[in-house]
Amino acid sequence: MPDEAAMLALGRHLADVARIGDVIALEGGLGAGKTTLARGILEGLGLEGEAPSPSFAIVQPYDVPEVKLPVAHVDLYRLDDAEEAEELALDEYLMDSLLIVEWPDRLGPDAWPHALRLHIDIEPDGARRLTVRVPDAWTERWSQI
Ligand code: ADP
Ligand code: MG
Repeated sequence: MPDEAAMLALGRHLADVARIGDVIALEGGLGAGKTTLARGILEGLGLEGEAPSPSFAIVQPYDVPEVKLPVAHVDLYRLDDAEEAEELALDEYLMDSLLIVEWPDRLGPDAWPHALRLHIDIEPDGARRLTVRVPDAWTERWSQI
């Protein structure tokens, strides 16, 4: 991913194939580009204007008709403990929304085994390298991206 525009474009492609009940997990350090990728997805789903980072609110929900399908954009960076995570009731969003989660690792390695996991690393020249873990539910769709 040479630049922010490429990251936004990938997000828009993901939006074309994303469905209700999916989890798109975005890993990587501060400033890696997780929110940028999430903004590309939201843009691809029809959101006009720039999506705020949910780093303070933790969960930023979007609904139809603002977006084509309901989305919960989540940032778990500020999460203190597992109890707080339970209060967020994130799995309830899965019944009627697409879940986009920054810092999913805050919930441990076993959360959402069916998630599409994208790990973003920053290269020395500032470009981003993406490592993807594609679960069964995404293999066919990933090949279309
Ligand atoms: P995170 O949510 O991971 O903390 P952000 O998406 O908020 O990261 O910020 C990423 C920053 O890095 C933005 O200022 C963006 O312009 C910049 N950037 C530079 N190169 C890229 C790239 N290839 N992809 C995404 N962001 C990039
Ligand atoms: Mg962010």
